[in-house]
Amino acid sequence: MTTAGYRSPWIDDEIVALQDMATKFFETELIPHQERFADQKHVDREFWNQAGALGLLCASIPEEYGGGGGTLAHDFALFDAQYGLGDTAFGNMVHSGLVAHYILAYGSEEQKQRWLPGMASGAIVGAIAMTEPGAGSDLKSLRSTAVRDGDHYVVNGSKTFISNGKHADLVIVVAKTDPSAGAKGTSLIVVETADAPGYEVGRLLNKVGMKGQDTAELSFTDVRVPAANLLGEEGAGFGYLMKQLAHERLVVAVCAAAATEAAVALTVRYTKERKAFGATLFEMQNTRFELAECATLAHVSRVFVDSCIERHLRGELDGATASMAKAYTTDIQGQVVDRCVQLFGGYGYMLEYPIARMYADARVQRIYAGANEVMKELIARSL
Ligand SMILES: Cc1cc2nc3c(=O)[nH]c(=O)nc-3n(C[C@H](O)[C@H](O)[C@H](O)COP(=O)(O)OP(=O)(O)OC[C@H]3O[C@@H](n4cnc5c(N)ncnc54)[C@H](O)[C@@H]3O)c2cc1C
Repeated sequence: MTTAGYRSPWIDDEIVALQDMATKFFETELIPHQERFADQKHVDREFWNQAGALGLLCASIPEEYGGGGGTLAHDFALFDAQYGLGDTAFGNMVHSGLVAHYILAYGSEEQKQRWLPGMASGAIVGAIAMTEPGAGSDLKSLRSTAVRDGDHYVVNGSKTFISNGKHADLVIVVAKTDPSAGAKGTSLIVVETADAPGYEVGRLLNKVGMKGQDTAELSFTDVRVPAANLLGEEGAGFGYLMKQLAHERLVVAVCAAAATEAAVALTVRYTKERKAFGATLFEMQNTRFELAECATLAHVSRVFVDSCIERHLRGELDGATASMAKAYTTDIQGQVVDRCVQLFGGYGYMLEYPIARMYADARVQRIYAGANEVMKELIARSL
């Protein structure tokens, strides 16, 4: 729930129209299937093609590569629309928000022409595999390797918690091309999964929340990848990750701000209907004060994220501020959704109520894309 009359300064009429179209699509094609998607632990593969046909994938990728030709604002508006409806199943944030931008930023002309049009249409689903069972926050310690053998790399390793893992046709694998060189020996290798003997999708993970989102383990055993699938320069992968992570953190903050507002709006509506002791819950002073505070926190998140988006669109957002946005908005999301659940009473604990799912979904926001403790380290370094 945004405060009356407030419109994010980076949103214009064209972006509002895109958001409205996306909202209608999500309301008819996504929300009614949430329970089924949660049971199967992923959206239908066809959903990606439907989203692509409507222009909801790669909205900020130039038209010459099949994208929507918009700016990052178009992507943010779409993520906002999805989280504003309380959905976390559709992994577009990773696909359009991250993977497509790695390819756009570091891919050769040939690579961009080869992969981006398919990502925009939904023919190719993208994932990025950094995390390993033994290396999450401490990415420098990852053990996957990509060893050069003639005109191929031979990729070995295990990755876990990979969003879009089951459906991924293209995985950007973070691996060591020179294990003796530490972070400087890290490279990004694009694995095209359709014809990759030795590539396996493991378990679809059973998560506390985000039940409909495809999150999988991936394993690579002597997977031969053409050397031409190296993204950018060999050994430069860690630097690319550090550069893109600020963007990733803002993507999470956008989703957090939208989900926080949505939780407040749902709770205002519910407490105005639910009666106890001869009055609506909303008429009780505690409810009014709780929701007044929650609405204020949601609005502060929104305005902070808007400021970051404006700076990011001008190419001026620094990593420390992106980390502040990620840590602040996800902490606030957790606090506000928890307070909203309280106002729903027992119904707030039932998964058939969106607020209960939002409560479960919110928890991971403080963990992934860099745990909030890591965000504080990054912020502190800038002080
Ligand atoms: C649903 C989901 C989706 C994900 N999607 C992807 C994906 O698509 N691709 C991908 O590569 N990864 C993905 N991840 C992985 C995610 O980024 C990692 O879980 C995250 O980086 C934390 O790593 P870890 O789980 O190994 O925790 P650890 O690194 O073991 O950290 C555990 C805890 O230790 C604390 N901690 C860690 N470092 C520090 C520090 N420097 N200072 C203080 N405290 C610290 C924090 O509290 C942290 O939460 C996903 C995870 C989840 C749960």
